[in-house]
Amino acid sequence: MMGPLRIVILLVLLYILYRLLTGPKKRPAGKARPEPAARVTDVLEEDPVCHVCIPRTQAVTMRDGDETIYFCSRECLARYHEENKKNRASKT
Ligand SMILES: [Zn+2]
Repeated sequence: MMGPLRIVILLVLLYILYRLLTGPKKRPAGKARPEPAARVTDVLEEDPVCHVCIPRTQAVTMRDGDETIYFCSRECLARYHEENKKNRASKT
């Protein structure tokens, strides 16, 4: 004799099966690309002083004319300033 409980269990099993089959398909595997805005934050810039790569978001920046220079720390920025001064002094 088939009671209503068996039907409920069967429905639950069917639901689990349905979720297992449809679940992974909802997430597009491989197609998930970072948003353009998120990609910008991932850009690595090289510190011209110690040659370490730092993400733009964490870098100490300095404007030099049209270009932006990225440093890993304020110490490197200060050192870059010092070397620029030296270079300019030696040229003249
Ligand atoms: Zn540095």
